[in-house]
Amino acid sequence: MKIDLKQAADVITKYKNFVITSHVNPDGDALGSVLGLAHYLKAIGKNVTCLIDDDLPANFNILPGYELLSKPGQIIEKIDLLIVLDTGIDRIGQIKELANAPILNIDHHISNNSTVDYLYVDPDRAATGEIIFQLLKFMKAAFDKNIATCLYTAIATDCGFFRYANTTALTMRIGAELLEFDVKPNLISEAIEKKTLTAVRGIALALNTLEIFKNGKIALLAITQDILAQCVSTEGFIDLARIIEGVDVAVMVKYVDENTCRISMRSKTTNVSLIAETFGGGGHIRAAGCTMHAPVGAAKETIVAAIEQSMEDSYNA
Ligand code: 5GP
Ligand code: MN
Ligand code: MN
Repeated sequence: MKIDLKQAADVITKYKNFVITSHVNPDGDALGSVLGLAHYLKAIGKNVTCLIDDDLPANFNILPGYELLSKPGQIIEKIDLLIVLDTGIDRIGQIKELANAPILNIDHHISNNSTVDYLYVDPDRAATGEIIFQLLKFMKAAFDKNIATCLYTAIATDCGFFRYANTTALTMRIGAELLEFDVKPNLISEAIEKKTLTAVRGIALALNTLEIFKNGKIALLAITQDILAQCVSTEGFIDLARIIEGVDVAVMVKYVDENTCRISMRSKTTNVSLIAETFGGGGHIRAAGCTMHAPVGAAKETIVAAIEQSMEDSYNA
């Protein structure tokens, strides 16, 4: 059932025991939104467990409450509500099966049409963190440094530190208001940008795989098993393809196993969410992804063909 912000607040007020979760391969918006909401719910006397069914990126250990995040181990008993943030229920790993409770799903992904008890999706918000900010305002929350740091990180990371097209005047206003609570924007961006020497050397290997298609409009990086072994994280790699002059769609194909790849896409004009959806994924118009059941070489061909087709369709439209 689709709900508004007031109904979301009512649902939260009604219950006492919560699990809050977000997507696998968690990013700043996922972790910041989960922890920002968790700090508030704890402050008003609720019982909260924060679960992410994946490994956590260590760079985010600057988030207050990072130690509260854990992987689900077993069936989670005695909870009243499962809150799913920054994703539909298709990307939360095993948590849907482990937490048998009504679901409140709050998200900003245009492709989210999850069937849940309570669904609040606002695709005009740059980050789920913005929606949590609005929800907390609605609930007359007392903001503090912990909540503000988490929500600032959530918002800043999803809008490229206030540079991407999803950055609105409201994004800036919310960011400004959060900074009033002694948030340190430089420390947050430094922690998130930080890479080990090995990881920086991994960037060189990734760049060596760069291929250009469609007269320079598509740039592709292929992260094979060998390259993956030398770089802990591929966070930010796709931006190296995205920033090339004349490129509309940057795509990264990343090895998972012999027959599985993760696809990431970024675009300036092409709707990459639609392309990702045709392969069972989703996201936003300018940033989307999916999983493809193919080896890296075949996945590359399939995704480049799909992007080329989508570009041709839009020229002909
Ligand atoms: P990334 O390339 O950073 O993994 O993802 C870019 C955007 O696409 C993110 O907003 C993410 O939530 C979305 N996305 C990535 N992979 C998937 C997927 O497999 N399914 C869906 N529904 N969204 C995805
Ligand atoms: Mn996210
Ligand atoms: Mn997000």
